[in-house]
Amino acid sequence: MEVPAHELFQRLSTSISKLHSGPPPENVLPSTNALSAARSMLHSHLQSQGVGLEESIRHIQEDLAPAFNSSSRSPNYYGFVTGGATPVALLADNLVTAYDQNVQVHLPNETIATDVEDRALSLLCELLNFAPEQWPHRIFTTGATAANILGLACGREYVIAEASAHRTDVEISVGELGITEAMRKAGIDEIQILTTVPHSSLSKAASILGLGRTSVKCLGEPDAPHKFDMQLLKKSLERPGAASIVAISASEVNTGVFATSGLEEMQEMRKLCDMYGAWIHVDGAFGLFGRILTSPAYSSITQACEGLELADSITGDAHKLLNVPYDCGFFFSRHRNIAERVFQNPNAAYLASGNDANAIMSPLNIGLENSRRFRALPVYANLVAYGKDGYRAMLERQIELSRGIARYILETDGYELLPQHDTPQEEVVNSIYIIVLFRATDEALNKQLVNKIKATRKIYVSGTAWDGKPACRFAVSNWMTDAERDLPIIKQVLQAILSDKESVQS
Ligand SMILES: *Cc1c(COP(=O)(O)O)cnc(C)c1O
Repeated sequence: MEVPAHELFQRLSTSISKLHSGPPPENVLPSTNALSAARSMLHSHLQSQGVGLEESIRHIQEDLAPAFNSSSRSPNYYGFVTGGATPVALLADNLVTAYDQNVQVHLPNETIATDVEDRALSLLCELLNFAPEQWPHRIFTTGATAANILGLACGREYVIAEASAHRTDVEISVGELGITEAMRKAGIDEIQILTTVPHSSLSKAASILGLGRTSVKCLGEPDAPHKFDMQLLKKSLERPGAASIVAISASEVNTGVFATSGLEEMQEMRKLCDMYGAWIHVDGAFGLFGRILTSPAYSSITQACEGLELADSITGDAHKLLNVPYDCGFFFSRHRNIAERVFQNPNAAYLASGNDANAIMSPLNIGLENSRRFRALPVYANLVAYGKDGYRAMLERQIELSRGIARYILETDGYELLPQHDTPQEEVVNSIYIIVLFRATDEALNKQLVNKIKATRKIYVSGTAWDGKPACRFAVSNWMTDAERDLPIIKQVLQAILSDKESVQS
């Protein structure tokens, strides 16, 4: 006899609470033995007779789960900007699964799911100091990559319409005509994406949307590649036959640096873009959260976040610094009419939600998916639970740890902080957000550094390249971060790697 489902759920909830009790696990990764054991137990072929509910759950929990890596439970997981998941968000996410509610059409007489999504998005605007009424096109996505696709899709629609406005009274829409016909009618040969230090997903979005990866052009200054060369930007915008989307990286994944440095620069950029009918998209996957900070200790970050509200569209990630489970990103745009032109499902009157301009828009007509997960609920839960002060405190703890790591790197012979500056050390430390990039000064050690750190299983970092050489990166993004508990572990691992190298050489 099968065990009834509700009993299995009870057992599952007991084991989930066990997973979340006590201190974080000592190892951030499963052992290589656990990985190969689990791999060997995977079913290799579909059986005609299933093994049943109880055995399949046992299989997942006992055979496979020991080989999962639970970065949300591991504050010492510093690879990529992964974020964690707060307990309240995890609970809400489990409810989402249990209810299996589709958030596709606004059906106010049937469910409040779309109300929750809309409210979560406006609370999120408030958290990040964006006036909700200025961002009428807003939606949760599966992540920042998806939000970047929305941004470029809206930008593409807008810049073609702008380019054709002086030629014809008929609205030229890419959504309607397709990109080739729309560009021909608008007299445009090229859509260029002008940016600096873009995340790889921007090129991916350009590829998906038929703009092409080569349309992404980096206009950085020679000795500060993250900063726009304004002369070059102006020249590029002026090019006849070209329509432009300007993409601003508000905190780059490798170094954490911001592409713009304040309100004035953003105002200048806005003016230029208005002059040439360009669209401004901000990729602030984790950088946007710098807008929560208020203390002067973070002035370099808060300044860099100023003026982002002048953009046309914005990408943010919720599964990173908002600390909700995967998959959750968000997209804000000022242009409600563009949303409908790009994403409207045609001839689906039964899906329409009316024409009231203030009504909540049916998500299926303003984003990628039709059927959608209720991913708004964990966000709503977190925002209600922590509020602005809670998130500020969480982020401050993450910055404190990042700056602690940076200080340690600066004062330790054998490691060097990147990028290299002539600036005084304290100033360098005060510009650190949640990313710390560094390398070992010894070339041979540097080549193995990331693997040596990972092999300890105590902390996890990701590898990247800087100036043509391997480099190592800490990305701090977990709500559990506690510098007092975590910094000694990091120092111990990094120190041991240096000492080990000396003992090998002598
Ligand atoms: C992480 C990240 C992305 C991609 O986000 P996903 O949520 O992984 O799709 C895009 N841009 C930036 C700046 C990022 O940090």
